[in-house]
Amino acid sequence: MSEIRQDQATKRWVIMATERGKRPRDLVATVSTTEPEPEHSPDCPFCPGNESKTPPEVLAYREGGGPADSPGWQVRVVPNAFPALRPEGEVTVREPYWFTSVTGVGVHEVIIESPVHNANPATMEVEQFTRILAAAGNRFNVLRQDRRLSYIAFFRNHGRPAGSSLTHPHTQIIATPIAPTNVRQEIEEARRHYDDRMHCVYCETLQRESDAAERIVLETDSYFVFEPFASRWPFETWIIPKQHAAVFTTGDASQVEPLAHALWTTLNALYHALGDPAYNLVLHEAPLRDSCEDYYHWHIEILPRLATAAGFELGTGIWINTMLPEHSAEYLRDFVSA
Ligand SMILES: [Zn+2]
Ligand SMILES: [Zn+2]
Repeated sequence: MSEIRQDQATKRWVIMATERGKRPRDLVATVSTTEPEPEHSPDCPFCPGNESKTPPEVLAYREGGGPADSPGWQVRVVPNAFPALRPEGEVTVREPYWFTSVTGVGVHEVIIESPVHNANPATMEVEQFTRILAAAGNRFNVLRQDRRLSYIAFFRNHGRPAGSSLTHPHTQIIATPIAPTNVRQEIEEARRHYDDRMHCVYCETLQRESDAAERIVLETDSYFVFEPFASRWPFETWIIPKQHAAVFTTGDASQVEPLAHALWTTLNALYHALGDPAYNLVLHEAPLRDSCEDYYHWHIEILPRLATAAGFELGTGIWINTMLPEHSAEYLRDFVSA
């Protein structure tokens, strides 16, 4: 089992997942972002027919039904074969005061987004995005019941520069027994804003960006997509629900469809505007059982990897952006299909 350690000076948590060192190197070496990929790859553990190469599925959508861990699925969710955290055992704080560490209990799952090995937003139907988000919502609902967990991280790494080691389109979930420092800091700032002004800072951001209009990429009935005023890198893009909510919830397809549409449109615009860029997509939401529903507001951040975080960024947390978000938004808007 891995161990989660806390640095006392920053309160930052680090998962010591030495088991992940077993990850096969040859798998990584076969992936290239420049070579065109086939629709099906016999060596890919996420391709149909290779279901036995992953741990048993926890969820799958098969249009005509069919047995678990067999082909015919549209979306398939499996535990990560090389998990950073494992679901067995209790969460215990090994040392409460100084060399603080927590047992590495948690859940690490992969949502295989399509049976097609080389699928991307430009080739997937918007309905496929609905299925992916429905699967994600389903897993969120299950994981929220587990009282050992404190946070559900939902993220997508696309392309080698973004840290993806497998071409086959997938999103990951890592549910942790600790709340991430980044989200804690966001919540602290949101609480301060709420204390001072008595409203949500994200709701105000929506209002002010809507008034300013120059950084909007897409506005639908339920979602607002824009390039943040202080974007860290060119084409940093946020998707934020217009309705205030601290956590991402999906009850049925009607709730998922508007987000699927906003996400599909945004990723397509980035794909066509920038020629399939590498990016990280991360969902930010309130930690589990946290009472911040009045002032925290869930959202999705997409960070194309068009630049590299180097010494200054890593050492200071201050980023250098070479493009105004007004300009990237204007450029991106031309690629938004109605
Ligand atoms: Zn594949
Ligand atoms: Zn809000």
